[in-house]
Formats: sequence, C-alpha cells, structure tokens
Amino acid sequence: MVQLKETYQLLINGEYSNSSNNEFFETYNPATGEVLATVAKATKEDVDRAVDAARNAFENGKWPKMPQARRARVLNKIADIMRERFNDLVEAEVLNSGKTVAAAKGQIGQAIEDFEFYAGAITTFGGRTNPVPNGFFNYTVKEPVGVCAQIIPWNYPLMMAAWKIAPAIAAGCPVILKPASHTPITAYMLADICHEAGVPAGVVNVITGSGSVIGPYLTTHPGVDKVAFTGETETGKDIMAKASTTLKRVTLELGGKSPNIVFDDADIEGAVVGSIYGIFYNTGQSCEARSRLFVHESIYDEFVEKFIEKAKKLKVGDPFDKETHMGALISKEHEGVVDGYVKLAIEEGGEILYGGKRPEGSEFDKGYWYMPTVIGNVTNDMRIAQEEVFGPVVVIMKFKDEDEVLKLSNDSIFGLGSAVWTKDHGRAHRIAEGIRAGIVMVNCPISAFPGTPFGGYKQSGFGRELSVETLDLYSETKSVVSYNGERLLNIFRI
Ligand code: NAP
Ligand code: MG
Repeated sequence: MVQLKETYQLLINGEYSNSSNNEFFETYNPATGEVLATVAKATKEDVDRAVDAARNAFENGKWPKMPQARRARVLNKIADIMRERFNDLVEAEVLNSGKTVAAAKGQIGQAIEDFEFYAGAITTFGGRTNPVPNGFFNYTVKEPVGVCAQIIPWNYPLMMAAWKIAPAIAAGCPVILKPASHTPITAYMLADICHEAGVPAGVVNVITGSGSVIGPYLTTHPGVDKVAFTGETETGKDIMAKASTTLKRVTLELGGKSPNIVFDDADIEGAVVGSIYGIFYNTGQSCEARSRLFVHESIYDEFVEKFIEKAKKLKVGDPFDKETHMGALISKEHEGVVDGYVKLAIEEGGEILYGGKRPEGSEFDKGYWYMPTVIGNVTNDMRIAQEEVFGPVVVIMKFKDEDEVLKLSNDSIFGLGSAVWTKDHGRAHRIAEGIRAGIVMVNCPISAFPGTPFGGYKQSGFGRELSVETLDLYSETKSVVSYNGERLLNIFRI
C-alpha cells in the first residue's frame, strides 16, 4: 500500500513550508472515518506568498516564454512519471476519497492522458493571419493569460487537478491550485511529479486550507489574472462576484441535474445498464450524474422493474475490492445532505422504489454510506427533481413525446450533461439539438475523454475543459497590425 506522508505542507515556489501560523487540519478516509494525515492550513499571508511566487514565475521566469515543444516535453514527462506511480496515485486517491479502485483507475488513467493530450495540442496552438486591406498585415499571437488561481472540488480530486493544471501550464501560465479540504493528498503528489518532470519552481503552487477563508482572498487578489473554478453553483456565483472587482478572467464548472431520456424504441438492456452507470458511478457524486430519468410512458413499468433489478445487483462497500461498484460518500455531513433530500422527496409525495437509507451490515459501522436510491411518483417541479443532490439518488418520471420531454429536460436552472437512448438517429439528433446543455450522450453512458469539450450551459457555468478550446481560456489574443505599403499613410492630411 502507498506510503502517505504524516503531514502535507504547502508547496510554494517549489518548496514545502508550514502555514504562517503553523495551523493544520486533518484529512481522513471516508470509508472508515480514520485520519490519514495532517495538512497545512494556509493563511492570507501564505496566499500572498503563493501569488508572489506565481507572479515572479510569470514575469521573470522562463516557463511562459519557453518554446511550446519544450513545454510539451515536460508535460509528456509528467504523464510518464504518473504512469510509473499509477498504483500509488490510485491507492492514495481511494484512501482519501472513498471512491472505488475501479473508478480511481479510470480517472487517473484519464488524468495521465490529459497531460499527453495538452502536450500534443499546445504544439499546434497559435495565432492566425487575418484578411485586412492591401498594404496592411495582421497577425495574432496567443500569450499566456497570467497567474491562475485554480480551485477544485473533492469528487474527482486528481482528475480535476489534471483538468486544471495541464492546459494552464501548457499555455504557459503559472498556477496556484487550491484542492478541496476533504481531498488534498493526490494534488500534492501530482505537484511533486510536475517538479520532478522539470516544471520550474513557482509554476505549480499548491495551497490547502479553508475555502471560505482563503478562497475569497485568492479570488480578489490583485496579483491573480484568472480564476478557474470547479464546484457548487452557489460558490461559483460568489467567486464570479468577487473576481469582478479586479475583472479577472473566470471559468466556472458548476453543478447539474442532468436529464436521461429513454424512448420506447431504445435498446432497453443497454439503456438500463447505461442509466444505472450514469447515476450511480462515483456514488452519484458526479457533476454530470444523470439524476433525472425520463422514461417513455409505454415502457415505464418494464423499464423501472429492470432498473431496480440491476440497482439491487450493485455492490456497495470496501472501495479496494475490485468487485465494488459504489464506495463511500465523502463525509458524514454529506451523508446527512443526501439523506435529507430523500426525506424531502418523501414529504413532497415521492415514493422510494429502492434504497433510501444506509446499507446494512457491520462493514458500514464506520464511514459514510448510502444505498443506491430510486424515487418514483415525482414531478419535475419538486425540489428533488430540481436541486442537485450529489449522491446516489435518481428520480424517475414518465413522458409522452419528444416535445414534452424536451420541455421537461430544459426546465432546470442547470445545463451540464444529458443523455438520450433511442435507435432512431433522427430523433437522437433532434433531442441533441433541443437540449440546452453542454454535453449530450447518445446511447452512451460516458462523456469525458481528453479532447471532448466539457462544460455547462445556464447555471452549470461557462468555459470548457478537457479540450483544445480550453487553451484559449488560458490565453490572451494579441493582434499585431502593421503597414507595409509604399504610400505615406498621412491620414490627417497634414
Ligand atoms: P464547493 O463546496 O463549491 O467547493 C469547491 C472548492 O471551492 C473547494 O476547494 C472549496 O474549499 C472551495 N471554496 C469554498 N468556498 C469558497 C469561496 N467562497 N471562494 C473560493 N473557494 C471556495 O464544491 P464541492 O462540494 O467541493 O464539490 C461538489 C460540487 O462540484 C458539485 O456541485 C458538483 O456538481 C461540482 N462539480 C462540477 C464539475 C463540472 O465540471 N461542472 C465537476 C466536478 C464537480 P474547501 O474544500 O476548503 O471548502
Ligand atoms: Mg461543498
């Protein structure tokens, strides 16, 4: 098993240090509640140090001006070292997040490929020449946007760190990464790997501590040029307001309540297992979890029966067991939130068709757990159908036709993911066109590959990650106009 450190210190300018007041917090294993390590709790002075380091790397360091192919080489090296330490990274992630070993392997595998993807993408990234009148010449250059504060959640700790760090450093930006307090360990492991691979000091800084204390200080800091945030919609709104005071560039990847639409002409078996995966993967703690299941009225009873049959087959428990489908919830507090939503659904008239409680058995005496939960008798206007639960809870509703299901799907403040199951390709693409969401999955339960733009419409945020477009969001475009004509340009005629 991986050897974790007893204490994780702040990583600023390539060096580890305690926080300015020597305070720490504990990080634990959600599957057991046991403490794993202590972690430095940054203060505002520590934020200042991190911003100074990143600013110095931006203004005086070699990284932002380094030829893109050389930066690419370092990104590939990061991926190589991650591959060598794959098992350590997976084990640390499972210990700190309670997710299953299968999920952690998939996510860390993708995190590695993210670095390789951006190593390739950055070598083709650049400006263009534009059509201008004769005698003039215009070209654009892409320049790094500057110092980036990157604030990430706990549901995919290492993968989110990779989604943030890889495009930013590929584009030449120094970063200050602030992992979620629940899951700091693999972010520090990744930052170590970045340095070993040749990222200069000050380019990848990691600080941990209370988001509500250091977060606002970071997002209003005059030394920060851009904030890239993934987390709850409410936190995103606060960040956007704070970042506006110095007009920082902002990208926000926020919450969701994604619709999953099953037509009567779908491959029912495929739709059932895909829909199960779509909500219960990562114990439902997934921003694009398909938590609103719309089933055509003519197959509703058959589908629900099959769905529950499969939900009963899900194995909840030891995250290190390869057979486990659902690991722990992140915290006791979050277990309370999930259970509170289930109770609310019952109060609103919903019917628990399966689950709705902690699993039984002595292996669940410790840690934070919930059964896969299926709720029927729901209408789309209920809070259980409108608010993000961020746990293994799905609501099932009936629909009649395409128009109705599009209206219901779009009747949400969110617009992150969506899925449609049908054998009719015309119908699939009509739904894809009508859905107001950043991602549409057609007969498919997964959506995030290096290269596929990932992000939301409406209150699910803006900006895209994981794709070529992301490089633009870590860049400024400079337009250079020159005059090459022979005629004197005396516009004032003086
Ligand atoms: P969260 O509570 O919003 O926290 C996210 C991060 O923000 C943490 O690092 C947190 O620090 C920090 N933070 C808290 N308050 C802050 C403030 N006022 N200013 C700046 N930073 C602050 O989100 P979460 O509970 O970790 O994650 C779950 C949410 O993430 C869900 O809503 C999910 O949908 C969303 N998510 C979205 C995507 C996407 O791509 N759209 C992907 C994954 C997750 P502390 O941990 O110290 O509080
Ligand atoms: Mg939260």
